[in-house]
Amino acid sequence: MPDATATDLFALGRDLDGDAFVPGDDGWDDARRAWNLSVDLQPAAVVQPANAEDVARVVDFARERGLRVAAQSTGHGAGPMGPIADTILLRTGRLSGVEIDAEARRARIEAGVLAAAVAVAAGESGLAALLGSSPDTGVTGFTLGGGLGWLGRKYGLACNSVRAIEIVTADGQQRRVDADSDPELFFALRGGGGSFGAVTALEIELYPVAEVYAGMVAWPGEMGSEIAQAYREWLAGAPDEITAQLRFVSLPPLPELPEPLRGQTLVDVSGAFIGDAAAGEELMRPLREIAGSVWDTWGVQAAPALRHLGMDPEEPVPGIGDHVLLGELSPEAVEALVGVAGIDSGSPLIGVQVRQLGGALGRDDENSGALPRLDAEHIAFGVGAVFEEAARPAVENHLDRIQKELAPYSPGGRALNFADRPGDVSAGFRPEVWERLKAVKTQYDPAGMFVAGHQVQ
Ligand SMILES: Cc1cc2nc3c(=O)[nH]c(=O)nc-3n(C[C@H](O)[C@H](O)[C@H](O)COP(=O)(O)OP(=O)(O)OC[C@H]3O[C@@H](n4cnc5c(N)ncnc54)[C@H](O)[C@@H]3O)c2cc1C
Repeated sequence: MPDATATDLFALGRDLDGDAFVPGDDGWDDARRAWNLSVDLQPAAVVQPANAEDVARVVDFARERGLRVAAQSTGHGAGPMGPIADTILLRTGRLSGVEIDAEARRARIEAGVLAAAVAVAAGESGLAALLGSSPDTGVTGFTLGGGLGWLGRKYGLACNSVRAIEIVTADGQQRRVDADSDPELFFALRGGGGSFGAVTALEIELYPVAEVYAGMVAWPGEMGSEIAQAYREWLAGAPDEITAQLRFVSLPPLPELPEPLRGQTLVDVSGAFIGDAAAGEELMRPLREIAGSVWDTWGVQAAPALRHLGMDPEEPVPGIGDHVLLGELSPEAVEALVGVAGIDSGSPLIGVQVRQLGGALGRDDENSGALPRLDAEHIAFGVGAVFEEAARPAVENHLDRIQKELAPYSPGGRALNFADRPGDVSAGFRPEVWERLKAVKTQYDPAGMFVAGHQVQ
């Protein structure tokens, strides 16, 4: 390790309002554990800051001793991070404040806040934030990495609804960054990820969405090809008000799942429509009328309920996921998809979801950050469970197979929030944006102190 000794780290702990852990401490394993249990993080120390001042103290301490700093809220996105033996892991869970200004339709969210807390708090004022499918991802990591959710085709990527960011930069300064104060840093943070400093809070825009027409309709996996082709045809009439998803899924036999779904291999169409029930019913009718469905929850829901729509795990699990961006779904692309994800594919994955892009997710806005849009029509994301190491190769191999067999239908590029595996980070950005991101990194973090899941360097 660079110049820090165990005694130094102990002294750091004494100076903090929050808590610090070093290897061997009681609670060390809990403190370093990532939400993604397949990742074994072994940092030099873990700090749970109680406030932004603690974050600044950690950054000063690390800079003076040549250590690095990695900020995480949950460790959902810990997969792509390399070795961090010389790194202080900043776990921001205690920075948990959420303030809603309903009149201004803004929220200030501290760095450790989870999606569910924002959904519920905004929902109390009939508003919605741009959140992902999982209730317990950190809003900060999700948003810095782009942020794709159920309201995306109407309102865009979450990173472009950020209005200000509170951050501690490598010089130890606490800054409130917006488009006027530090335009390049503000640009980089909105979609460029966590490479530029330790974020302590975000100010985000909220939208007047109190209710949605949303749900999931599922059929037996044997109907995969029929449903996928029908979904492809249905897409042509889908307005920006709906963000949908086709999914191939093998559900575990968990008692908390409804009986018709438990242990079943299914194909389903889920989504959220911003509009009234009559228009939503009409829109979804061609799909919901396909005979043979075993489950159908489409109906009016309060917007905060969207956090459960994807049935994402709400507790830490060991998983590996990866993705491929897709262009327009042709009949051939759909058959290729069924071939790698359907019931006869031999897939060891829990599921492959094909999320609809386009709409505002595919449009540029001059005020956008580093990720103005996703240049694709769909994103196919596969995920497998790795409850024991022996399961890892089969999951990895199948993710490779999906990427290879769907490559002919891909425009290329990467959506980094959906990459649990290390890879070419520059492929997540346009070439000119990548150059800007590297320049911002050099300006604000010349020694490369901050370690991100997807590192700009
Ligand atoms: C079950 C599941 C469902 C998901 N659904 C979606 C989805 O619908 N849409 C979507 O876009 N993504 C989705 N993701 C991906 C998820 O958004 C990313 O993994 C994201 O990075 C998680 O953020 P986090 O803060 O919880 O993770 P963490 O692992 O804690 O953080 C990930 C990265 O974010 C950065 N970061 C986090 N906090 C800070 C901070 N305070 N300062 C600076 N950098 C920071 C760092 O680079 C860090 O490595 C999903 C992931 C899972 C596991």
